Amino acid sequence: MDAAVTTSPAVLILLGPPGAGKGTQARMLEDKFGLVQLSTGDLLREAVAAGTEAGKAAKAVMEAGDLVSDEIVIAILRDRMAKPDCQKGVILDGFPRTTVQAKALDGLLATSDQKISAAISLEVQDAEMVARISGRYTCAMCGEGYHDTFKVPAVEGKCDNCGGTEFKRRADDNAETVASRLTAYHAQTAPLIDYYQAQGVLQGIDAMGQIDAIANDLQGLVRGVMS
Ligand code: AMP
Repeated sequence: MDAAVTTSPAVLILLGPPGAGKGTQARMLEDKFGLVQLSTGDLLREAVAAGTEAGKAAKAVMEAGDLVSDEIVIAILRDRMAKPDCQKGVILDGFPRTTVQAKALDGLLATSDQKISAAISLEVQDAEMVARISGRYTCAMCGEGYHDTFKVPAVEGKCDNCGGTEFKRRADDNAETVASRLTAYHAQTAPLIDYYQAQGVLQGIDAMGQIDAIANDLQGLVRGVMS
């Protein structure tokens, strides 16, 4: 694992449309740099599965591919960031997705004298996203990500990472919902590229190639940010 040489915990943001590879790359960064991946999508799916009030409110919105309210998402993120493991530094995957969320994050970090280390935009083309999303699935045991075409387990039906034999697909990974999710991205999240550019923390990365090549570029960039 690379040593993190920073005075306050790193705060990395991964920006990009659904299917850009934020989750896959965040997990790899977690392993490599000892950071904690915070995915608001995962936190919301947990809330839905647990049947909490937030989960009940979010369920139909997520199934339609729309954005869950800022109020719910900010509350979930704030609670998660208060946990001690976040002192190791965090990778935000799927948050912020609106300008309101970005401003709430700035406020939250200011209260603990932290700031954004980098907002990294994973640059991809929409046409590729539908193919990527519609083939993806994860190990039900450990969450390792796979894809029908781009990344299959070495032994069919067996997770490379933990040996698990059960896999699952997300309810919102279907063609209609993906179209809504891309629309939501362009309307509400893409403006954050300018927002972070103005803060001087934006970095871009070409995320159209192979997972390992993108990981290599991204990890080089993160190493530079954290040194
Ligand atoms: P993801 O796993 O990041 O693709 O998120 C799945 C779904 O959860 C999204 O399509 C939204 O409905 C919801 N969601 C996740 N993160 C956010 C967020 N920061 N703001 C609003 N909705 C979110």
